[in-house]
Formats: sequence, C-alpha cells, structure tokens
Amino acid sequence: MEWATRLRKLPQYLFAKLDEAKAKKVAEGVDVIDMGVGDPDLPTPSAIVEAMKRAVEKPEHHKYPTYNGMLAFREAVARWYKKRFGVELNPEGEVVALIGSKEGIAHLPFAFVEEGDVVLVPDPGYPVYHSATVLAGGTPYHVPLKEENGFFPDLADVPEDILRKTKIMFLNYPNNPTSAFATKDKFRTVIEAAKEYGFVVAHDAAYSEIYFEEPPSSILEVDGAKDVAIEFHSLSKTFNMTGWRIGMASGNAEILAALLKVKTNIDSGVFQAIQEAAIYALDNEPELDRIREIYRRRVDIFVEGLEKAGFSVEKPKATFYVWFKTPDGISSMEFAEKALDEAGVLLTPGVGFGEYGEGYVRAALCMPDERIEEAARRLSAL
Ligand SMILES: *Cc1c(COP(=O)(O)O)cnc(C)c1O
Repeated sequence: MEWATRLRKLPQYLFAKLDEAKAKKVAEGVDVIDMGVGDPDLPTPSAIVEAMKRAVEKPEHHKYPTYNGMLAFREAVARWYKKRFGVELNPEGEVVALIGSKEGIAHLPFAFVEEGDVVLVPDPGYPVYHSATVLAGGTPYHVPLKEENGFFPDLADVPEDILRKTKIMFLNYPNNPTSAFATKDKFRTVIEAAKEYGFVVAHDAAYSEIYFEEPPSSILEVDGAKDVAIEFHSLSKTFNMTGWRIGMASGNAEILAALLKVKTNIDSGVFQAIQEAAIYALDNEPELDRIREIYRRRVDIFVEGLEKAGFSVEKPKATFYVWFKTPDGISSMEFAEKALDEAGVLLTPGVGFGEYGEGYVRAALCMPDERIEEAARRLSAL
C-alpha cells in the first residue's frame, strides 16, 4: 500500500524511535532509567478518581456528549481562569473542551492553513506543531529558541515575506523541552506582531501549573490578546491525568468556532463523566501543592547531581524537564546513545525537538527520587 504524500512527509514520531532503542537495551537485561517521555508516574489524585466513579454511574453521561463540552465544564474552566489568572472567559464561545490538548493542537491548522501558508513553530519544540502543520498542507517555519533570548522566539529572526504568509504561530510556556519561562512582556511582542501580520497565536500552556517559583502567566492576561490568541490547556500534567484525555482551548471566539467546526467533523467530544471529574479537579485542585513539591525535590536532586558532575545546567523554574548541554561539544544524538549504552539512562536528544535543539539533551523527571539520584550518579561516571 502506498502511503499518502502528507504522511510520508512526516518524521517518525520521536518517542517511537526512543522506545525501540530502549526495548533493545531492556531485552539485553539492562536496568534502563527512562527519562525519555514526559508522562507523570504519580497516580491521579484519589478525590478526582472518586468524582469519576460517581459520574460514571449516571446514565445521562453514557450518551454522545456535546461537541464543545458540557456547559458546566466550560463554566468550571472560566472560573478557574478567573481565579488563577484573573482572565474573564465567556463559557459560551470562549471555551472548548478537547480530548487532551494534543488533539486541539493537531486540529487547529486544518482550520486556518491553505497550501503554501506558513505556520511558525518553536524549535526546539513539541513535535505536534510541525506535524499538524504538514498534515494540513502547510509549511512549518522553525523559529529558533536561543538560550541568549531566554528560549523565546525573536521575530526579528523571521523574514518579512515569511511573516506575511504566516497563519498561525505556536508558543509554549513554561516550555517543553527547554523548561523556559515567559513573561507577559514577551507574550506582548508576539500579540503585537500577530495583529500587524494577521496571524493566529496558539499558546500551549500544558505546564502552567508545574512551577516552583512565581506562577506562570496566561497569554490571555496580555491586553488585547483575545483579539488574536487562543490558549491550550490540559489536566494531563497538572493532575497526573495523561491517560484520561481531557483539555481545553480558551480565548478568541472566532478562532475557537473554526477549531470546533473541524472537530465536529472528526470527533464526538469528551466522555461526560471525564468532564465531570475535570470540573471537580479544576474547582478543588486536589493535591496540586503536593505534586509541585514532589517535582521541586526531584529537580533539586537531579540538577545538584549534574552540577557536581560538571554538567552545564540551569535549574528550571517550571515543568518536570531538565534541559542541559552535552559535555565537550558532542552532538546530542551521540551523547544520548552514550548515556543509554554506557549508563543505561534514556535521555531525549535535543535534535529530536528540532535542529536548534542540537547540543542539548532533555531529561524528564517522572520517577521516584532514588531513581533520579541513581541516574545522576550513572551520568556523572560518563
Ligand atoms: C504533554 C504535552 C501536551 C499534551 O498534553 P495532552 O493534554 O495530554 O494532550 C501538549 N503540549 C505539550 C508541550 C506537552 O508537553
């Protein structure tokens, strides 16, 4: 069978490749410490699980859900945005439920991109921004995230003719993979450019609640952001709910209406029992402080271990990722291979997130303290 061109144009999904390399090592009997995929190891807070148990008993939830999410869910999102960011959202039109934020991110380009249109994607970045653009027939333009610019895109790096063809710009803060933090002033530069050139800003805030210092801002806090921007959010990382598949998009109503039209033709919404459990989670934020403390401790342990071993690493203010430079200028792929071969530690090579990730690797801290200590110890022997 011949695959469609659009499919052949896609790179192999990075984590599938890593899984293969890991499986080989495990088959050889190596005790691999997997710092590859960012999937929380902790269980969903039990109060959310209990809310789900109550919800799943209700026959009214067993039917097809509404496409845009239950009104009660959208109201809970609006309450949470008001409480957390001081942002006002109209639950009618300014909030859409998603089957996880990845689903919304992947569908957005279908709503705005014609053949030849450009989508600005951060590099290094979450691979879905690039692949969704390609699937929709668009052309991804990789905007470098440079360390000297706080891993925030500088639009001066983007040629004028590219900006004029741009339909969407993806942003993601706190950032995966660099764990960088953005300020409202930085967001403002992108909102202003979006108004000047007429593109949609799609901010992915999946890690906004995994922070260790000041709480990160929503891009919707910027004056006028709602004219051009939407924000993707998710319960996945905040409440250890990656398997549940629930997220939301909030912000500009016209952009959301377009996204919803795509979705209406492809999926049939989020199981309502999950939405009801999510309402409980957003209203009560069970165990969230404890979850943050666990990641804070893990980050401290790992960064201290790496520093002792002489690695160049900055302590992240948010996310459960540590992004650090490979030693002695060796390539990220070489270092990741060496770490897996000689230390049994699976790290993600920076190039896997784009060419500007070269020279770095990412460690995801989704395992108990002892394993993180052990990983740092093994890496320091390299
Ligand atoms: C994990 C992750 C997501 C996807 O989360 P889901 O809501 O589970 O789909 C989106 N963006 C980034 C940057 C992520 O790391």
